[in-house]
Amino acid sequence: MAGTKKIKTLFKINKLRTIFVIYWVLLAYIIAALIWWFIALYQQNEIITQFKKNNSPLSSIGYSLSKIEDDRERRIHQYVGEGVTFLLFIIGGAVFIFRIVRRQFKQSQQQQNFMMAVAHELKTPIAVTKLNLETIQKHKLNEDQQSRLLGNTLQEANRLNDLCNNMLVASQIEGGGYNIINEQINLSELLKNCVSDFTIRFPKKNITTNIAEDIIVNGDYLLLQLAINNLVDNAVKYSDSKTFVTANLKRSSGSIQLRISDEGKGISAEDKKKIFDKFYRAGNRHTREAKGTGLGLYLTKKIVEQHGGSVIVTDNKPQGSNFVIDFTNG
Ligand code: ADP
Repeated sequence: MAGTKKIKTLFKINKLRTIFVIYWVLLAYIIAALIWWFIALYQQNEIITQFKKNNSPLSSIGYSLSKIEDDRERRIHQYVGEGVTFLLFIIGGAVFIFRIVRRQFKQSQQQQNFMMAVAHELKTPIAVTKLNLETIQKHKLNEDQQSRLLGNTLQEANRLNDLCNNMLVASQIEGGGYNIINEQINLSELLKNCVSDFTIRFPKKNITTNIAEDIIVNGDYLLLQLAINNLVDNAVKYSDSKTFVTANLKRSSGSIQLRISDEGKGISAEDKKKIFDKFYRAGNRHTREAKGTGLGLYLTKKIVEQHGGSVIVTDNKPQGSNFVIDFTNG
């Protein structure tokens, strides 16, 4: 199966390469033809000029020669003007089309990666849950073993739930089908609940908090919960278990700032520009160790912006990342 997929991808890349080669060859041919036509017209102009000079009446030779030279110059200007305009249009159009095709190709590749990631993300929790439940059903386990298996099953079910929520909300927000509920939300309590969920799900992880009490914002509880969960999930996912994840919430000069920090590998300057794009995942297929679909940050940004806020990523010192949400409607 993996072999067939590889062959298909290789075939696609080769096909695209062939298309690009044909495209550039065609473009080069058009430009070469344009230059050739310019040279041909220039030479023809010289011949016409020479012919006119040779055949101009002797009585008015002074006047005729200057008129012939003027005509020659005018025609050269005309050829250069039209040629340059044509060339600029061709190059502008070619660059425009090239960019669109390249973007489309990247998007289709990302979508394909996303579909593969989703299929994988769905398969793993189902397989683990099935295995755990079968083990509990078939074997006599002691209480400790049972609770470990159930905890593990619950964790997988939660992951499945997060994934489904992300996909559902992404499609609803994009299709305009999500009705945002605008109510007063205690962001402090919401953040505490999210962190508490993650503490239960990842007991080995050090998650610390510094949350100011009773910070209220207007918004949709489920959406904000999803946005925060995505950030905490990433902070846990992209850092070692011994390191710290910190959730911060404070009011600062008229705005409300929510910050999730981790001590993971951090994010390169190049990736910082792209991680909020739909389906984008840093690194390549082989270097991505953590599971994911590339939807989390895209959704977080959309949700935060719908709540009149902004989200940015900065470097944590000495290492890791800070994701900072700024709400100005508080
Ligand atoms: P996913 O985690 O499902 O891949 P996201 O949209 O949540 O998708 O994140 C996009 C990418 O941004 C991730 O694939 C990862 O490479 C990078 N990223 C996000 N959060 C962090 C973080 N806290 N530390 C390092 N990299 C991160």
